[in-house]
Amino acid sequence: MTKILIKSLFSFLALVMFYQTSNAAEVNVYSYRQPYLIEPMLDKFTADTGIEVNVLFSGKGLVDKMEQEGANSPADVLLTVDIGRLSDAVNNGVSQSINSDVINQNIPAEFRDPNGHWIGLTSRARVVYASADRVSQDSITYEELADPKWAGKICIRSGQNAYNIALIASMIAHHGEVETIKWLKGIKANLARTPSGNDRGQVKAIFAGECDISVGNTYYMAKMRTNEKEPEQKEWAASVNIIMPNAANRGTHVNLSGAVLAKNAPNKANGIALMEWLTGDVAQEMYAETNHEYPLKAGISISDMVASFGNLNPDGLGLITIANNRELASEIVDLVNFDE
Ligand code: FE
Repeated sequence: MTKILIKSLFSFLALVMFYQTSNAAEVNVYSYRQPYLIEPMLDKFTADTGIEVNVLFSGKGLVDKMEQEGANSPADVLLTVDIGRLSDAVNNGVSQSINSDVINQNIPAEFRDPNGHWIGLTSRARVVYASADRVSQDSITYEELADPKWAGKICIRSGQNAYNIALIASMIAHHGEVETIKWLKGIKANLARTPSGNDRGQVKAIFAGECDISVGNTYYMAKMRTNEKEPEQKEWAASVNIIMPNAANRGTHVNLSGAVLAKNAPNKANGIALMEWLTGDVAQEMYAETNHEYPLKAGISISDMVASFGNLNPDGLGLITIANNRELASEIVDLVNFDE
């Protein structure tokens, strides 16, 4: 009896809470991006706009979840990284087109889906991490990583990782399939160990003397250099320099973080308001300072740390081209048994 009473009381409270929250201005976010970065920004968004934000953070499965939830999905906005994940969301039918003057003004067209199904928020460069003690050259190309002079000296995360897939996809665009296969075989022949770990793990390996060179994203280096929680990462980071690959020719490979307006967004207007806000000055500055990414809005400064990495000359290859070459890139990784 008591149990039933408690149960029905609970249902009633849940119902009250449901009506309260559904009456309030709110927006529901599914985020692959981590809480330490996103929460302070969303708090600021609520303070600026009065719109409450509910967030579901997850490292994986959010697009699947949206697909399964279908028309009943509470998601308004999906936050993620990499053109691969943005285009997966579109290809799985969980996005809708957005056409906002604010976003169109803040974010250059090359960082937005021509059909409006995703927008970029920040960009990040995939650079070379090189041992400060053992690598003396201060310029490099991605092509050169296949040179036998690096035999036994390269560490890298899995070839199937989204960041590496995008880089390999860019190589296909520049050199074609046959040359890219040769190139990846060359890198495999130079590996000091089987691909494993994340971008930071490669820096640890360089610090430990297991290898001399790797590729990784810019912001990881900034976060290691400022890591007060795990100060050993500062030591790893101090043992490597960043070299911007292909700086003197076609430019360094870049990718992006971005957002998608959910197909069935129940709070569509608030979802658009959030996406617009994320492209504005306040959010773009927070992305630059908190996470050391490159803001996409013109006129927003990069962090001092990122500035210390040197000038970024970004490869102008379109993200759509990279997205279109991803599947072939993944097949090539398997073809050359890169991860084995
Ligand atoms: Fe990352």
